[in-house]
Amino acid sequence: MKNILKLTLAIIKPDVVKVPFTLQQIHSKILTAGFYIVQSRTVNLSCQQVENFYTEHTGRFFHKRLVTFMKSGPIHAHILAHPEAIQLWREIMGPTKSFVTQYEAPDTIRGSFGLTDTRNCTHGSDSETSAMREIKFFFPQFNYEEWLEKQESILRK
Ligand code: ADP
Ligand code: MG
Repeated sequence: MKNILKLTLAIIKPDVVKVPFTLQQIHSKILTAGFYIVQSRTVNLSCQQVENFYTEHTGRFFHKRLVTFMKSGPIHAHILAHPEAIQLWREIMGPTKSFVTQYEAPDTIRGSFGLTDTRNCTHGSDSETSAMREIKFFFPQFNYEEWLEKQESILRK
């Protein structure tokens, strides 16, 4: 089906959660873009949980600062639904590195509000496989098949 809703995992990182004005701006961007917010949680990640979530980045030069940052305060995890959820959310976030993005894509979230290349406001899944893994990570009770069968068509209408 053409317009079937897809899911992505969005995280609002600690640099944003602690600034109500920015949090509000990003929340508005999510809704204006036409996303449905399927489920949300506020979480304080432990060091181990951040390492498990970002396992692909173990050993990278920024790994330690990424872990320190992500466990520095509460984050908001959202399951977002949209026919182009993964691609659209990454487009609205903008490229990873805030210092370049503020010049190259100033209207994106990271271009507007990113503080550093690490403290870059948000996370978004990069593929369907990542989205399923990341949704399970934050919402272990969430049943994708059941959602698809019972909720997807209701939301879409
Ligand atoms: P994205 O979040 O855009 O998918 P990555 O998966 O490559 O980017 O990296 C995960 C997170 O690690 C980034 O969002 C950012 O917080 C941090 N990070 C990535 N690359 C760098 C870098 N070159 N310098 C500092 N921090 C980085
Ligand atoms: Mg990534």
